[in-house]
Amino acid sequence: MPKVEIIVDKEKCYLCGSCVAVCPKEAIIIENDEWNFFFDKCISCKFCVLACPVGALNAEEVEQ
Ligand code: SF4
Ligand code: SF4
Repeated sequence: MPKVEIIVDKEKCYLCGSCVAVCPKEAIIIENDEWNFFFDKCISCKFCVLACPVGALNAEEVEQ
């Protein structure tokens, strides 16, 4: 599976936390009204992308 970076569209994201809830690795954290992604923790499962109700997340493949 290619490693991905998860990109948030801040115009769409309303910080509902669904992506945080489905992430098996705590690679997304919402703190102080900020959405944060931790690349080193992410296992590229894309559960977060599927879970977002407004399509605010995109997975961008990263060359390693
Ligand atoms: S791709 Fe998987 S591991 Fe990475 S942030 Fe999304 S849910 Fe978490
Ligand atoms: S699921 Fe979508 S709208 Fe909800 S916090 Fe995550 S990116 Fe934002």
